[in-house]
Amino acid sequence: MLRMQNINKSYYMGEEELPILHDVNLTIHSGEFVSILGPSGSGKSTMMNIIGCLDVPSSGKYLLSGNDIDDLDEIELAKIRNKEIGFVFQNFQLLPRMTALQNVELPLIYRGLSFSERQQRAKAILERVGLAERMKNLPNQLSGGQQQRVAIARALVTEPSILLADEPTGALDQKTGAQVMELFEELNNDGRTIVMITHDIKIARHARRVVHILDGHLTEQTGQEVE
Ligand code: ADP
Ligand code: MG
Repeated sequence: MLRMQNINKSYYMGEEELPILHDVNLTIHSGEFVSILGPSGSGKSTMMNIIGCLDVPSSGKYLLSGNDIDDLDEIELAKIRNKEIGFVFQNFQLLPRMTALQNVELPLIYRGLSFSERQQRAKAILERVGLAERMKNLPNQLSGGQQQRVAIARALVTEPSILLADEPTGALDQKTGAQVMELFEELNNDGRTIVMITHDIKIARHARRVVHILDGHLTEQTGQEVE
């Protein structure tokens, strides 16, 4: 599904080079649930940006669903991103004046689906994440955990190859965070490929494989890589 080979990433502050990722090698197969665990500043978001095609490596090779990212221009990269990746963020990023249903429908509007098709798909996925009774609510009428479920439904409604989540429980209390992790486990059991970034080892352990990152190096892995 995705392969990072000898990836290095630096940021530049004027003339000064700030090396962040060092020789990162990682393969994730279809159907895996992998977490990337590391402390603040270790390079997790930098890695997520590359995995999600929001940024490109300074050197090394990144393959996503058979596409060599090196060969793509900005527009092609955006197309791959929209097709392959469903993003979930710490702070949900829902549109405040739209209902749960409208938020989930939105990515389908951009794809030109008909009203009835959009409604049908958005409702089905909201039911799947346990929000059948909450579709007409605005985000501020929902709890944090419910808002994150809406965001997860929105990420999945386009049927991406990978659900990519950056600190998805970061804004939630422990119990609600654990419930969101149970949902991730269920979605993974349904065959979804999930890549999750977190600094919290308890959260990371819900994944089937944990990859540790420290100062931009992948240091160890626990759990099984499943082909
Ligand atoms: P994490 O998500 O693990 O907290 P990040 O990937 O956000 O780590 O950041 C890793 C390091 O890179 C940090 O030292 C951060 O200050 C630095 N960094 C992140 N983004 C930029 C940027 N756009 N320009 C310069 N430095 C950056
Ligand atoms: Mg981060």
